[in-house]
Amino acid sequence: MSVIGTIPETARVVLAPRKARPFHGRHPWVLDAAIQRIEGEAQAGDVVDLVSSEGQWIARGLYNPHSRIRVRLYTWQADELLADPAREAAFWRRRLEAALAARAALAAPEADQAMRLVYSEADGLSGLVIDRYGDYLVVQFSSLAMAARLKTIVELAVDLARPRGVIVRGDHGAGALEALADLPEGPYWGEAPDGPIFISEHGLRYGVDLLTGQKTGFFIDQRDNRRAAAGYLQGRRVLDMFCYSGGFALCASRLGEAHDVLGVDSSAKAIALAKANAQLNEIANVRFETGDAFHTLQALAGERARFGAIVLDPPKFARRRQAVPDALRAYHKLNQLAVELLEPGGLLITCSCSGHVTREDLLHVLAEVAQRSGRDIQVLEQRGAAPDHPTSVTCLETEYLKCFICRVG
Ligand code: SAH
Repeated sequence: MSVIGTIPETARVVLAPRKARPFHGRHPWVLDAAIQRIEGEAQAGDVVDLVSSEGQWIARGLYNPHSRIRVRLYTWQADELLADPAREAAFWRRRLEAALAARAALAAPEADQAMRLVYSEADGLSGLVIDRYGDYLVVQFSSLAMAARLKTIVELAVDLARPRGVIVRGDHGAGALEALADLPEGPYWGEAPDGPIFISEHGLRYGVDLLTGQKTGFFIDQRDNRRAAAGYLQGRRVLDMFCYSGGFALCASRLGEAHDVLGVDSSAKAIALAKANAQLNEIANVRFETGDAFHTLQALAGERARFGAIVLDPPKFARRRQAVPDALRAYHKLNQLAVELLEPGGLLITCSCSGHVTREDLLHVLAEVAQRSGRDIQVLEQRGAAPDHPTSVTCLETEYLKCFICRVG
């Protein structure tokens, strides 16, 4: 890298003709196909300038030659994110402060509630997620360039949020797409939890494994949907499919006063956690079983089982746009199988956390299911992620979670 004064020279990523529009529109992902050439030297993780084919400066971001998202954009102001370590750190500090201030302004959470403090593009910090679990922070990296700044980011997060310990997690899907191989995953700063830590949500307690649990340990994004769903479940037989550590199931029982609940997940570890959480809360009318969703739904149909409500909260089926048609087929099959198990007037709480699958896509799937099954499906509530996972209107991929509460006639 050549150095002029104290600021290293910044490489320029030049867009192909007529490709600038999304970036003037503040979309933060510059895909390889939009780029014509690079002027200057850019290494993985470097700060780069994005310019139009006519040479007009548009934005500044971080470069990753290994990812299809070649540049992630962070600022549209020319005097920010200059390639100088101290000024860079000041920029990240401002972004983190803004994200934390926004969370502090949300309704006061329970003291030991889990909360997303930083949500990637929605907080102008593409590739970075920070979740707070009680006194701990879990920092998750899904971009190579952000991971290269791990030390700075953790130092700033510690300074601003004053945790007892910080755990670093990779994002397994994104890790491969970003060539994020060498991330030091595990306890990184301060104390390491010596077992599960405990959080509260809607008055229920959950053990969370911060080191090896799925995602960052708990599906915080579904917090408000668990409570909303519970409101429809009084006296019903409930099936919580893809139950993980039991969030929807325990809420259905305690808050919703469901008659009884069956929770199913393919992960034996998740089921062990769910059982432990049921015990922790002294909930007796919930049963958990290990099983594949498709097989279990078919087996239940074979037994002529019927439910008053079914929750479907499957994992991300489409990581890339090309995977959407297959994902839609899988959503169709799942929802079709679930509808067949529902008694007339039953509730279907159906979710998708694939960012590439839109609300309209999911509604279309439900329309096809209604047509094929000859049942009416009414959407009572169209919900998304809790407000600590906001949507950026200039990066609609941040609106990944859809949760429809439906009545099936
Ligand atoms: N509803 C949960 C979160 C579900 S996340 C909550 O509120 O906490 C998706 C879950 O689906 C994961 O726990 C994963 O283990 C499980 N899973 C993935 N594939 C599955 C399959 N084919 N059948 C059943 N469960 C599956």
